[in-house]
Amino acid sequence: MTRPDAHDGLVPWAVRTSRGRRHPEPAPEWRSEYQRDRDRIIHAGAFRRLEYKTQVFLNHEGDLFRTRLTHSLEVNQVARTMARALGLNEDLVEAIALAHDLGHTPFGHAGQEALNRCMRDHGGFEHNLQSLRVVDSLEQRYAEFDGLNLTFETREGVLKRCARRHAERLGDVGQRFLDGTHPSLEAQLTNLADEIAYNSHDVDDGLRAGLLELDALIEVPLVGEILTHVRESHPGLDARRTIYQTVRHLISHQVDDLITTTRTRVEAAAPVDADAVRTAEAPLAAFSPEMAEAHRGLKHFLFHNLYRHYRVHRMTTKAQRVIEELFTLLHGDPQLLPPQAHESARTLEQRLGERGRARAVADYIAGMTDRFAIAEHERLHDPRRLA
Ligand code: MG
Repeated sequence: MTRPDAHDGLVPWAVRTSRGRRHPEPAPEWRSEYQRDRDRIIHAGAFRRLEYKTQVFLNHEGDLFRTRLTHSLEVNQVARTMARALGLNEDLVEAIALAHDLGHTPFGHAGQEALNRCMRDHGGFEHNLQSLRVVDSLEQRYAEFDGLNLTFETREGVLKRCARRHAERLGDVGQRFLDGTHPSLEAQLTNLADEIAYNSHDVDDGLRAGLLELDALIEVPLVGEILTHVRESHPGLDARRTIYQTVRHLISHQVDDLITTTRTRVEAAAPVDADAVRTAEAPLAAFSPEMAEAHRGLKHFLFHNLYRHYRVHRMTTKAQRVIEELFTLLHGDPQLLPPQAHESARTLEQRLGERGRARAVADYIAGMTDRFAIAEHERLHDPRRLA
């Protein structure tokens, strides 16, 4: 018996064969290379911790809001639907989607900004780079190598953005940021699926948390039209179903637009294979100009009405203080770190000096869940708590 051909039904410009792994390994017997990547991601400790990390709302605020884990599953669902419709490699899309947020700090955007500020003089902190760092070295569970030893294509997809100064030391996956080429179509699509997922679920969570008013959405491009349509087609529908019905259509409108626009762009560019996608004049996955405009309107609305809401702002401020105080304390006295993190701090400091010590502290903090960060902060500050 042989393994089912993972290439059935793929278009010529889909990713078929891998450029390989950093540490060569025999091909898996029953799975595709990207299924193996996905499986390693799902079994990683960093993946399990996504359950207790948040995006906008903090983990303990309620059980109904998105976490990084449910967000990653939604990205996966949206991305796989589009990949299948476009004849692309669904296994690769799944691996990228499930790994894309592994490097996120506790407390969502607030945590990322705070840690970046703490690391200002030590090379900065950027969650895309950190996701790559998690899969390339921080997960330490395999006998033969550090990290998960994922394929080039999954790593390329995980590194969504990267500054030039970082790209220079990243080798193969950093190259495209230096020469202005693109990642695979699978990676491009998954990155846009991320955008579809968070735009839609921030509206959903914001409404259900009572921070956004349904009526205020009427003025927002795209969402307003959908909401009006839902109300007209279902007069008297209760608020809960109206929200769900609106968000549901919001996702499918964006998905339809992305599939259709991408298909047209691929037809026009006529790439012969996956590498031709990488060197095409512009990225082939894209929203229509109208949808891109609607996104800008929605982001503007969310920024002013949700992310800047005083209740969100209070939590954000507290979260930033926790991260900053943890960093100052642990960086100032690495002996406070638990043994494994202390060991990393020593090793990295020997190699890179103070910058290395700061990086080890950032790795330790970035790996925390929301609740662990809060508990660790209490243990370090409150003399009545056990160390
Ligand atoms: Mg994401």
